Amino acid sequence: MLSNTKMARYVLCLLLCILFTLPVFGRNDESDKPRQSPKRAKSIRGIVVLVDFPDKPATIPVSRAENLINTPGYTEKGIGINFRDYWLSVSRNKLDYQTDVFGYYRAPHPTAWYNERGWESSVELTAEAMKWVVKNNPKYDWDALSLDHAGTLLAVTAIYSTRIAGAGATHHLGKQFVAPNGVSSGQSVGSTLRDFKDKNNSLFTILHEHGHMVWGWPDLYNVKGGRGTGDYEVMSGNNFRFGPPNPSFLLKEGWVEARDIAKDTAITLTENGKVVARYVNPSNPKECFLMEAKNKSHVTTANLTAERGLMIWHVDETVSGNRGIDGKKMSPTDHYRVSLEQADGKFDLENGKNGGDAGDLFCPGKRFTSTTKPDSHWWDGTESGLGIDKIEFLPGGKIRFRASVKAR
Ligand SMILES: [Zn+2]
Repeated sequence: MLSNTKMARYVLCLLLCILFTLPVFGRNDESDKPRQSPKRAKSIRGIVVLVDFPDKPATIPVSRAENLINTPGYTEKGIGINFRDYWLSVSRNKLDYQTDVFGYYRAPHPTAWYNERGWESSVELTAEAMKWVVKNNPKYDWDALSLDHAGTLLAVTAIYSTRIAGAGATHHLGKQFVAPNGVSSGQSVGSTLRDFKDKNNSLFTILHEHGHMVWGWPDLYNVKGGRGTGDYEVMSGNNFRFGPPNPSFLLKEGWVEARDIAKDTAITLTENGKVVARYVNPSNPKECFLMEAKNKSHVTTANLTAERGLMIWHVDETVSGNRGIDGKKMSPTDHYRVSLEQADGKFDLENGKNGGDAGDLFCPGKRFTSTTKPDSHWWDGTESGLGIDKIEFLPGGKIRFRASVKAR
């Protein structure tokens, strides 16, 4: 539950995604708290209201928007998966995220009116659109919608027909909308399915913002010259190049399990599987290395830069996110919350050279130890003792490696 004042929560929850412009607003990552209640729910239900404008009438029919959000198996050009199947897939079939879609609500003003007034006006617009849903759907079962820990609606989303101020962001809607059953909104997402320059629809914005709204995940892109977790992750990425949530988020939601490394051992992981290997810092339980076997066969991993390989993540949950960090410093006090150890030792994601390249994954012949570059030191500079070598690609989509632990 968040105890901030309403205004503070506006600021806390105001976000902007990376699309084709650099982010203008950031999220204050202190609000990195899971909102979903009950945690690890098998299914959740949210609501979407489609909104268009007198000068930007809808181009995506309601039925198509419904398909993109809520129809299992639906795909279209440029989008290999729909919103519901994305969450089903990344949760390893543990979460069925259903959404009721209503639309279109015609905004009373043209887009310029909202852009002149800024993001607050789009939050008011979402509240107006939700009141329109109430008025036109007297039989709708508001009790079926999922709630967060605070007892407010978990997932309210407005999808605008074009980008306006406040689209591509998560806001606090609060009591600006109270459902007929007396339940008020918590956070709400303002989103689009197609941005200015897009030829095809994209789910990036709505998926990224739901990462904030429903699970409280922080931004992993970077605005200080780096690329954060680059094209590999949904909390960084961009409209057409993004991936699944990184394994620290998957673990938090119980969507994958950790196999903890305590002694020298050979580990076999299934690619895109349900288990990741973990090595935790005994001096800082919030810091760990996570080893994940991946291949690009699935639509959510299609942007992987190698056919297959081991991804080694360095996670420090004492850091709020990647957004405002000077990642180039890679020092005890300036480092990403979630870093991908790039096997080529070039640190392109920290230096902003690219959002990921073919040298990033650990393949046979590559090692990760206290003396390699990158090395396996903890962020305070001490040796972690972890070594990863003897990486082998096995048939059947499995990767085996040796994890060694040097006595500290
Ligand atoms: Zn964001």
